Amino acid sequence: MNFNSLAIKIASRCNLNCSYCFMYNLGDTTYKKQPKFMSTETVDHIIAKTKTYIKKYNKKEFSFIFHGGEPLLAPKQFYIDFIDKVKGIQKELPEVSFFYDLQTNGVLLDTSWITLFKELDIAPSISVDGTKKAHDMYRVDHKGNGSYDSVFKNAKLLKNEMNFADIACVINIEETPLEIYNSFKKMEASYVNFLIPDYTHDNYPFDKEKTLMADWLIDLFNIWINDPNRFKIPLFLGLLNSLMRINDQTKNESTVLVIETNGEIEAIDSLKACGNGFTKTGLNINKHDFHDIGQTPLGNLYFNDFNSKLSAKCQQCPLNEICKGGRLVHRYSKEKGFNNASIYCNDLIKLIAHVQKFFISCYPELHEKENITSINPNEIKDYLASLTNKENPYEQDLESFAQPTSLAV
Ligand code: SF4
Repeated sequence: MNFNSLAIKIASRCNLNCSYCFMYNLGDTTYKKQPKFMSTETVDHIIAKTKTYIKKYNKKEFSFIFHGGEPLLAPKQFYIDFIDKVKGIQKELPEVSFFYDLQTNGVLLDTSWITLFKELDIAPSISVDGTKKAHDMYRVDHKGNGSYDSVFKNAKLLKNEMNFADIACVINIEETPLEIYNSFKKMEASYVNFLIPDYTHDNYPFDKEKTLMADWLIDLFNIWINDPNRFKIPLFLGLLNSLMRINDQTKNESTVLVIETNGEIEAIDSLKACGNGFTKTGLNINKHDFHDIGQTPLGNLYFNDFNSKLSAKCQQCPLNEICKGGRLVHRYSKEKGFNNASIYCNDLIKLIAHVQKFFISCYPELHEKENITSINPNEIKDYLASLTNKENPYEQDLESFAQPTSLAV
């Protein structure tokens, strides 16, 4: 058990109705049973159990990520009270640094919220999908109206007031990388976390052989690397760090635990795309401790196996140290559970090869000295295709995924 962040669903409903949303529109309907807002009792349990966890595992840093639904639907007093309670436990944990992040759709953001963020030291991130065309294609309100204009205005406001605009962008390949990049330049974004859409092997909408995602990302990389005033893109920085053998400091999925609005303890949201109730563990912070999730099949896979137990194919892949098998949701199929390479495998190979090619062109002597050869995407694909199916490392886990754990509340 080694998580360092809690994503807290303080509000279960959203003022938008994005068509790709894993909370509402990708197969999981469990949000309907959630209370609209998190109760004081649940907050008290979260704080008390965080204190126990930090002491037990001797953590030096811990993050709370305010999440939803839309977290700005909650009253401002919620945040004041929450952080006040954290300060209460901090007196007993003086060596621990606490951080507060918040993920918002940006529609309700205004100067009063930004003032609160500054006062409480909360770092907000806004979800924006690039251009008005790309954003309004999916990020619509409950009447179907696009939200881009208000979100763009509020992201600019955030930049002006906090001198930093952190953006999360789900990639939409129907818009060009140049237009998306330029729209974030216009917004004066400081940091854009480009997210590859959450599809599984069962619902992937593109032709797997065509590497549309890689082609899009390669164009974006070329634009980005040639811009002297580029904003930060963690996807590319992570790849460059891996190629330079620098430890990637960005949070990986298994360092985040989710607390639902009613206190349920879960793994990351994106796994909701795997099916109705998939992320359910049967545990609730009001009755259980964080470490109990390690005894559930999903929690065991998530915290203990995710980083070490790659699919049979990925285990034999020469790129696995850089790629790490892709994100968990992208590996899933109903037939084989997580024993698949990423649905974006061919894209990842092509993208990694491209970034490595750039890197070699910058430091040819270094690569010559270390005898590093260029990655040839076709060779890797052929090699992977030639592999025979090894034993399924998840064989024993799969049956238990069919039903939520028996550790019911
Ligand atoms: S490139 Fe493909 S096979 Fe290799 S580690 Fe990544 S997902 Fe697995």
